[in-house]
Amino acid sequence: MQSSSAVRRVRWSRPMLSGVCPLAPSSSPFSGASGAARPSALSSPASWRTALLRTASRATAQSAGYHHSMSPLPQRHIADGQSISPSASVPAHRLAGIAGHLASTSSAVARPLSSSPTTTSSFSSSPSTTPTTPATRRSIHTSSPVMSSQPEHATLLIPGPIEFDDAVLNSMSHYSESHVGPSFVSTFGDVLSGLRKLFQSTDPAAQPFVISGSGTLGWDLVGANLIEQGDAALVLGTGYFSDGFADALRVYGADVTELKAPVGSRPQLPEIEAALKARKYKLLTVTHVDTSTGVLSELRNLSELVHRVSPDTLVIVDGVCSVACEEIAFDDWKLDGVVTASQKAIGVPAGLSISMFSGRAIKALESRKTPPGSYFASMKNWLPIMRNYEAKKPSYFATPSPQLVHALHTALSQILSVPLAERFAKHKAASDKIKAAVTALGLKQVASNPEDQAHGMTAIYLPEGVQIAQILPSLSKKNVIFAGGIHKEIATKYIRFGHMGVSILEPERGHVDRALKALEEGLSEFGYQKA
Ligand SMILES: *Cc1c(COP(=O)(O)O)cnc(C)c1O
Repeated sequence: MQSSSAVRRVRWSRPMLSGVCPLAPSSSPFSGASGAARPSALSSPASWRTALLRTASRATAQSAGYHHSMSPLPQRHIADGQSISPSASVPAHRLAGIAGHLASTSSAVARPLSSSPTTTSSFSSSPSTTPTTPATRRSIHTSSPVMSSQPEHATLLIPGPIEFDDAVLNSMSHYSESHVGPSFVSTFGDVLSGLRKLFQSTDPAAQPFVISGSGTLGWDLVGANLIEQGDAALVLGTGYFSDGFADALRVYGADVTELKAPVGSRPQLPEIEAALKARKYKLLTVTHVDTSTGVLSELRNLSELVHRVSPDTLVIVDGVCSVACEEIAFDDWKLDGVVTASQKAIGVPAGLSISMFSGRAIKALESRKTPPGSYFASMKNWLPIMRNYEAKKPSYFATPSPQLVHALHTALSQILSVPLAERFAKHKAASDKIKAAVTALGLKQVASNPEDQAHGMTAIYLPEGVQIAQILPSLSKKNVIFAGGIHKEIATKYIRFGHMGVSILEPERGHVDRALKALEEGLSEFGYQKA
């Protein structure tokens, strides 16, 4: 967006709009998911993108402000009747997010928030009539190349929560809906079928779950449903988060063996093989990215090993800090469970536990001799609910958060509007650049072996003489927020830089460059010079 002529006509208005669907349901990015096991009905990424862009180009609405304490919040409107190309100044996936949001709200039976009659036809299929509320219509006045209606704030570059996209945040200001009403059930169903794509799974026996809770709830799901008293579990120890997973499994009666690697590395295949041969384990857990160290674990060869040496052992992945920034091929790699959360690379505010379990895992659940060890976290309670939502049938066990599910719907439509390989490659390229810059500064990473380094975060040892209590406030003064250390053996010696989601996919935001510059300047303030 260098010159105003290059700027797409974008308008702002306040009301939450709803009404006529600009697209037939079959053109929705999440379409085709009318049955629990019909992922193949989803169209290819390319046609998704087409549908999304088409929707975006005809779309006219966006939701109301998400920070209600603020005075009239500008809303982003995509100019009608214009074709949007990925090279447009507004990144295509952002438009896609809006399109996804529209697709989800367009079937709403509820009335728009505003009683203004002009808003009721805002999804009119005629692109030449784009009603907005004149009194609240705004044009964009910003020198920033990226449109954001968020108040100025320090850039959050911790390993979750990450910076959020406007469209994702705005979708949370959705008017209240019944959690068993057809509109919300449809949105939830679309989210579940979208998750199958994110996990690259087409196996109808596998099942995605979205349950209110943070990432930690995923550990409880595994413990409560796949562990019975005394079951043996092999936990690959990579740091704070694998320790937490082990503790959670013990709560449910697991006999846990932790195979711990030295700080900054991960257990190696030969020792894992020896452990698997020494004892029969009900399940093995691996923390894909241990957020305490930035160590990335390899999954494909690991799973292949488990299936070869101990074929009955379930392969369970903590993907809280990896799903949507590291490749995960659920079916191809024969994984049995991946648990994650909304607020890391998926880019949705905290509050959703998101998981995927294989047919084998569900069989293990169904053949338990004792009931699951939790009521709320019982997959026996949630499984029929998830299947029903995906089949677009209302169903109730415990109230989901419609607003968070809307945000997830928007985020998924953005994520899936671009080939996943492209998304992963961008995270890797940015990570390579960050790690090279860190090395150029003369700093060492906690994850010492380049092959074991995560692509969505970097854990950086501080130079001798610089304290966390100095550097983090210094970065903060420069409008950059990093996280401190969390691994108990080295907690005071390192900091963590999260680089996921919009901070990577929209480099024009300048987040990474600003963070690296702030780090260099901050260190020099405390006397550090590269040797
Ligand atoms: C953040 C994180 C968790 C915990 O998630 P919460 O949402 O904080 O409960 C678990 N595992 C890993 C790898 C994480 O990064």
